[in-house]
Amino acid sequence: MKQFWKILLLLSLLGLAACGGQTTATPTSPAAISTQSATSVATAAATVSPTATTASTATLAATTQSGTTQTPAAVNDCTAPAALTPAVTEGPYFKAGSPESATIIGSQTGTKLTLTGYVLTADCKPVAHALLDFWQANAQGQYDNSGYTLRGHQYSDASGHFQLVTVVPGLYPGRTEHIHVKVQAPNGPILTTQLFFPNVNQNQSDSIYDPNLLIKIQSASASSVTASFNFIIAKQ
Ligand code: FE
Repeated sequence: MKQFWKILLLLSLLGLAACGGQTTATPTSPAAISTQSATSVATAAATVSPTATTASTATLAATTQSGTTQTPAAVNDCTAPAALTPAVTEGPYFKAGSPESATIIGSQTGTKLTLTGYVLTADCKPVAHALLDFWQANAQGQYDNSGYTLRGHQYSDASGHFQLVTVVPGLYPGRTEHIHVKVQAPNGPILTTQLFFPNVNQNQSDSIYDPNLLIKIQSASASSVTASFNFIIAKQ
């Protein structure tokens, strides 16, 4: 009987050793590493993903905000598909080689005119870096054909926006008040046209006048006028 207990004890010890060996030898390390790796990757992913998502969202928001803040006037005044700004005759006084300047008023006397607007496509998309070449008569209705007074070209900004600072042109025989301009998208066709002023009696007797080319007066006094006009042009 004593022998039986000895055998039983021996078997128990052998069984414990086997379990212990199994526990010790259990390749939990790889499993643990795998789990740990997976956890690390998951953690890393969890750490990276929100950042990436936040960054993407921020970028998108910035783009949206940027787009929204850059074109409100254009969007408000443009309904796609918009009719292209009509072309009219160039007239006899265009001179190539005007200086690059958005302010062509120089030392001219008269009513200061600040004209702002956008250059857009027919689907109301801004045309960046569009060329706008303005020329006009002074307040007395006279052109400078020897120099470049009241002549200047400029380029629209990334949102298609432009601003011209000049004087309200005077009348000259046979013509109502008008400003000449050539507008061209980069590598696009040249639009040659003229802008007109509302409530000018001579508009009705001017054969070139087109009501689609009327600027919109925003404010006016004896000394200054602010107005707007959007050009709708072809890009190709
Ligand atoms: Fe003219």
